[in-house]
Amino acid sequence: KEARAGLVVYRPGRDEVHLRQLALIGDLRQSIAREELSLRFQPKVDLASRQVRHVEALLRWQHGSLGAIPPDEFIPLAERSGFVHEITRFVLDSALAQNARWRAGGLDLGVAVNLSAMDLMDADLPDFVQASLRQHRVPPQRLILEVTEGVLMRDVDYAVRMLHRLRAGGVRLSIDDFGTGYSSLAQLKRMPVDELKIDKSFVMQMTEGSDDAVIVRSTIELGHNMGLSVIAEGVENDVSLGLLRQYRCDMVQGYLFSAPLAPEALVEWCRRFMEAEA
Ligand code: C2E
Ligand code: MG
Ligand code: MG
Ligand code: MG
Repeated sequence: KEARAGLVVYRPGRDEVHLRQLALIGDLRQSIAREELSLRFQPKVDLASRQVRHVEALLRWQHGSLGAIPPDEFIPLAERSGFVHEITRFVLDSALAQNARWRAGGLDLGVAVNLSAMDLMDADLPDFVQASLRQHRVPPQRLILEVTEGVLMRDVDYAVRMLHRLRAGGVRLSIDDFGTGYSSLAQLKRMPVDELKIDKSFVMQMTEGSDDAVIVRSTIELGHNMGLSVIAEGVENDVSLGLLRQYRCDMVQGYLFSAPLAPEALVEWCRRFMEAEA
């Protein structure tokens, strides 16, 4: 604790952080049964057609007494405690169920689901994905799995095999947070993926001629030369959007268009967006 201008500023110590983590891991195991987990959906906007073709599902945890806990905090805990496989199955099932409801209402969207680092070690996951697609009668082409770059490079041979299995039936794969890992071009070339997603740290504050802009531009060219679709996340302002258009980025996602939304709000957002663009 530290006194400053009459205020006591509270700084949690290491033990307290550790205790919070232990408590959260315990509570996380109850979170599904207690219906504290839910999904928000953020539109991915296609720049050429000005259409929303996909949305990304992002997980939210509303803890009974602590309020909202961000995924950047609880996903790593779920990974360490081995509970993340159950979370991933919950997210896949919920996202596909939601997709089926939208389809029934005449809204044909693809849905992207984030996989955790640990999920690639889960040999049963590809079968679960196929079963879940069948159960909800969602065409495999409507599912996109986002895997972060770092994960793929730890054991390239293994990752390639697993990605091939996950891709069965036309499920699409995206490399998330691209640019933050250390993949070589040789490794990248072997990955059976469809999309590169440029990390928001390069996109958020892009300005003409900046290092960020150079990185983004070359990543888009790299992706296109490899036959991949390229999306930029973290598009917050018109400067970034203008540059991304100029560089022929395929899709954009970010607060400039919409924050992640609850399912009904997303439908409403899509309706207004299509009207405005029509
Ligand atoms: P991500 O997959 O890279 O998701 C993008 C994050 O950026 C999301 O944060 C999103 O809300 C946020 N974002 C979107 N647009 C903007 C923008 O314009 N500016 C800024 N500054 N941020 C933007 P969120 O929802 O807090 O998720 C954080 C991370 O947690 C995700 O990064 C993903 O790695 C992980 N995550 C979220 N949901 C899931 C899930 O269901 N399963 C797994 N395994 N991980 C998840
Ligand atoms: Mg993602
Ligand atoms: Mg990302
Ligand atoms: Mg991320």
